[in-house]
Amino acid sequence: MSSWNDGLMTASWSRRATLLGGVGALTGLAACDSQEPAAARSSSPALALPAGSASAGPIPWRRLARHVPLVRPASSSYDQLRLTPNPRWDSARPLAIARCTTAAQVATTLAFAREHQVPIALRAGGHSYPGWSAGAGRLVVDVRPMTAMSWSGTSLTVGAGLTLAPIVAALASHDRALPTGSCPTVGVTGLTQGGGVGVLTRAYGLTCDHLRSAEVVLASGQRVTASADSHPDLFWALRGGGGGHLGVVTALTFATVAAPTVVSTYLTWPAARAAAVIPAWLDWIGSADARAWSTLKLLGGAAHPSGMSMGATVTWVGPPAGFDAMLAPLLATRPTGRFDHTRSYLAAMQAYAGSGAREAFAATSHVAYDAPGAAASTIVAHASDVPPGLHEAGISIDALGGHVGSLAPRSTAFVHRAALATVQYTATWASGADATRAPHTARSYVSSFRAAMTPAWGQHAYVNYADASLADPGTSYFGANWPRLQQVRATYDPDRLFTQPQ
Ligand SMILES: Cc1cc2nc3c(=O)[nH]c(=O)nc-3n(C[C@H](O)[C@H](O)[C@H](O)COP(=O)(O)OP(=O)(O)OC[C@H]3O[C@@H](n4cnc5c(N)ncnc54)[C@H](O)[C@@H]3O)c2cc1C
Repeated sequence: MSSWNDGLMTASWSRRATLLGGVGALTGLAACDSQEPAAARSSSPALALPAGSASAGPIPWRRLARHVPLVRPASSSYDQLRLTPNPRWDSARPLAIARCTTAAQVATTLAFAREHQVPIALRAGGHSYPGWSAGAGRLVVDVRPMTAMSWSGTSLTVGAGLTLAPIVAALASHDRALPTGSCPTVGVTGLTQGGGVGVLTRAYGLTCDHLRSAEVVLASGQRVTASADSHPDLFWALRGGGGGHLGVVTALTFATVAAPTVVSTYLTWPAARAAAVIPAWLDWIGSADARAWSTLKLLGGAAHPSGMSMGATVTWVGPPAGFDAMLAPLLATRPTGRFDHTRSYLAAMQAYAGSGAREAFAATSHVAYDAPGAAASTIVAHASDVPPGLHEAGISIDALGGHVGSLAPRSTAFVHRAALATVQYTATWASGADATRAPHTARSYVSSFRAAMTPAWGQHAYVNYADASLADPGTSYFGANWPRLQQVRATYDPDRLFTQPQ
């Protein structure tokens, strides 16, 4: 377990403070090789090709390569560029990868896809849980080369290809901050469109709450700015409606906040006390000061040879002197371990970042609006019963509340404003594990855990922890906002050029 559980939202026990992993741009783009007959288009189970995507005749890739840096299977960099951070999708083979550096190149690529009916996938950080940005059998519109950053006062504009690590470093160098996730290689584009939760969420809201505008290339090829005054419906949908449906984002502008000092602690309890600690933690964080945030994790598997482990991280951006008073109700549960830190924003985000190394995992989610009641024992049962072959598996309950609730559920596409927490069920396997069995073991572990908790938490889910198997994903992710979101998607992509399943 190197990367997946090093990021705080899924941090494993022993690894808390590792500096940010570098995210390198790859080179070695090769000119297009010979044109390819239509029949050669392949598809994989992760992303079936949409109906009617087989146009007659070969695809004239050379024509696209004259205008856009294009990587095709024969290119030397193809096998590196096609990989996403999750080895689970390493079998995905895109038809081509359009390495777009400008909005004009994105527009050209979309026009080409439309003309030749080539299915597309959008790629920023590549962390799509179901592997949709891996682009098996598709033309990948890859914005990773878009890494420019610029400041206007305290507003930061970032290229859509940026991941969190360089953004956090740039913010800190200006003594500013944003409430984002903490995994260094997650893309700001995917994160923001799904909402964006992390260690500063209760204090400052979601990442998307700080979005002031976005540059978007629409399915038609038109380039627009989405903001409160321009294409307001599109702007509404970009904040929590999930990526892959509205257009290709090429740049995002955020209103930043002053960088806080982050006081934090890490508390541990013996597993035997889990059923009592879970409701106490939810009760405490549900009414805690908005400047506090916390995640509670119950994890088992090979990484926990002495059995299930339970711990909570708490962050506080209020005055250090007020930390213990804020924490008091949780300390009443008598944790057996406590590790305190006071850090700068940058040092805190680096401590929670982990290595950023690739890691194979399966995951799904709930969004909890209430405490689980008697189902707390169900949580303990599943977290204590991790099947063999999994490196680390269990549940992570990450607090919402605080400033997340300062906006109305319908004011952005992110509907879960009144919820208590996002809940993630995760299972990872090591690279040496049985490549056939491990993905299924992991998949069934997280699905059965979610199913067991559904009576308590219903079907609410978080789009950034997308799950291809959800029965009614639109309602689960977007609730009462789903009908409007469907409308906005239909308005901006009337011919369904963007065919991601959810
Ligand atoms: C290790 C790890 C840690 C995580 N930590 C957090 C966390 O702390 N907080 C949190 O909220 N989430 C977290 N997530 C979830 C993450 O926010 C989502 O997986 C997010 O969608 C990833 O965005 P991406 O750009 O990296 O991925 P991608 O796979 O590139 O894209 C994600 C989605 O956006 C679409 N998309 C990509 N590029 C564009 C574009 N230019 N325009 C429009 N749509 C586009 C894709 O079609 C896809 O649907 C984590 C995920 C992982 C794997």
